[in-house]
Amino acid sequence: MRAMVLEGRDSPLVLRERASPQPGPGQLLLKVRACAVCRTDLHLLDGDLPGIRYPIVPGHEIVGEVAACGTGVASTLGTRLGVPWLGWTCSQCRYCLAGQENLCDQARFTGYQLDGGYADFVLADARYCLPIPESIDDVHAAPLLCAGLIGFRALRMCGDARRLGLYGFGAAAHLVAQVAISQGRECHAFVRPGDAAGIAFARQLGCTWAGGSDQMPTTPMDAAIIFAPVGSLVPTALAAVRKGGTVVCGGIHMSDIPSFPYTLLWGERSLRSVANLTRADGIEFMQLAGNIPLRPTIETFPLENANLALERLRRGGLTGAAVLVT
Ligand SMILES: [Zn+2]
Ligand SMILES: [Zn+2]
Repeated sequence: MRAMVLEGRDSPLVLRERASPQPGPGQLLLKVRACAVCRTDLHLLDGDLPGIRYPIVPGHEIVGEVAACGTGVASTLGTRLGVPWLGWTCSQCRYCLAGQENLCDQARFTGYQLDGGYADFVLADARYCLPIPESIDDVHAAPLLCAGLIGFRALRMCGDARRLGLYGFGAAAHLVAQVAISQGRECHAFVRPGDAAGIAFARQLGCTWAGGSDQMPTTPMDAAIIFAPVGSLVPTALAAVRKGGTVVCGGIHMSDIPSFPYTLLWGERSLRSVANLTRADGIEFMQLAGNIPLRPTIETFPLENANLALERLRRGGLTGAAVLVT
C-alpha cells in the first residue's frame, strides 16, 4: 500500500510503499476512502507536539471501509466507519473512570502515536471507530471527524451563549458555525485581517457578522472560540466577551499567550481549553451532523499531494477543509 510518511522533524512527507498491516485482536483493517487534513498535522510536521516517534503516518479524520477484522471483532466487510483522533484509552485511570477519556493519561492518538489515514489502509481499534451518517458522502464526512468534533465539543463549553465569536474561520469554525446557527445562535467570524475571501465565506454560511480579528464587536459577545493557533488572540477574545462570558481555545497547540491586564479576566470571565474528544461526543455529533445536515466545504487532493494540501493550509489558502482521496 502507499503511505505518506513523516520521517523526521521539519521535513515534508515522503511517499512510501509498505506492506498492508494485519489487524490484531480487537482491530479492524480499513481501506481508506478519504482523510481530511487538520491543523494538528502541521503541528506534527513542525515538531510542536511532544514525544513524536518517527516514522509516523499522519491523518486522524479518516473515512474507510472494513477490509479485514482481527479476532474478537464482528464487523461486516465493506462497512463504512470513521476513525477519529482518539485511538485508544486505558479504561482504568481516574479520567477514563470519570467519563473523561479525552484526558486519559495513557491515551493514544491516531496519526500521532498510531499510524493514521494518509495511506491506502489503516488499522484501528474497533471500539473507537465511529458511525458515519448515511446522508454524507466520504469526502464530506472526513472533516467531521476532527474539525467537526472538536468544534462541537468547544461549542458545548460555551453553554447557552447566544452571541458567539469564532476566531479563525477554517475547517472547524465553518462547521461549528453551521451547528450554532441551526441552534438559533448568532455567529461572528473573526478572520485574518485582510482576508476578504474568509469574510465572504463566513457571510455566505450565515454568520451575522464577519471581519478582521483586529476589530472589536459593537456589542460584547457571550462566548468566543479560538481556532487559530495564535496566543495573542486570547486577550483579544477576552476583551470581546461580556462579564460571565467564556473564551475556549480549541487547538492542540498555540503560540505563547502575551501577558494581559487582569481586568480582561475580571467579571467572572472564563478561559479554558478543549482537548481531544470522547466516544460519546463522537456518536452524538455524528447523529447531529446527519440531522442538520452539515455541509462541509472541501477541496480534495490525491493522497500523494498531501504536502501540497498541508502547505495550502499553512498559508491560509483553503476555503473550508482539505481532504485527501486514495
Ligand atoms: Zn485512561
Ligand atoms: Zn485534528
